[in-house]
Amino acid sequence: MPVDEAMISSAAPDTTLTAPGPILLLGAPGAGKGTQAKVLMEQWSIPQISTGDLLRALRSDPIESSSPLGQQIRNLMDSGRLVPDELVQQIVEARLQKSDTARGYVLDGFPRTLPQALWLDDMLARTDGMPPVIAVSMRVSYTDLLRRITGRRSCPVCFRIYNVYSNPPLLDTICDIDASPLVQRVDDSENVFAERIRTYEELTAPVVAHYRGQGRFAEVNGDLPVAAVNRAVSLAILGLRS
Ligand code: AMP
Repeated sequence: MPVDEAMISSAAPDTTLTAPGPILLLGAPGAGKGTQAKVLMEQWSIPQISTGDLLRALRSDPIESSSPLGQQIRNLMDSGRLVPDELVQQIVEARLQKSDTARGYVLDGFPRTLPQALWLDDMLARTDGMPPVIAVSMRVSYTDLLRRITGRRSCPVCFRIYNVYSNPPLLDTICDIDASPLVQRVDDSENVFAERIRTYEELTAPVVAHYRGQGRFAEVNGDLPVAAVNRAVSLAILGLRS
């Protein structure tokens, strides 16, 4: 879903946190982590770090895409399976070294396995000056997840995202902005969605349990409109940081 200014300002609670620190957004594919991460990024002036986006950039890189590693990443992503932990960890570690992460960041799509979570906890424990990680999990019903994922289309030129059920373009499958034909991610088809949900339940649900057990954790209802979810997420973050 596109994020516009009205959405952000109507939803934004008054926040005065100077260092939001590391924030994990957890939730199944289609829960709206990317949308919420983008709103938080604007509100708190911290970067969104999406491992899905970083991996898509890597696999579309002209050199990497033709390498065996690039092919392996493509095959795993297109079939709804996870990329090996070590590779994603390396990508996250390199990204976290950039200076824009000094006040905090929103991790979207990471950690997705228990070993990734343990790796992150260990790395953060060795990072000076950062408040401890907090995790917000977004709960969304299966029916909504299915509609959000299988209805998602994007413009390959301006990257605007539509949903054929809830946010369709004005004309059939054509971008409102630049009239380019919209495309569907290979892994957004219904059968790959089923595999992604299976992967989530098997490998990522234990990550939610891990952070729930640590205490610096909140759960919000992700079925609500974007602004309402943002309000709940922001309040959860303020509560966990206070
Ligand atoms: P996303 O855009 O977050 O839905 O991620 C798309 C795909 O990228 C996933 O289905 C995985 O194949 C891969 N991916 C993203 N994040 C991770 C991660 N933390 N660990 C392993 N694979 C990942």
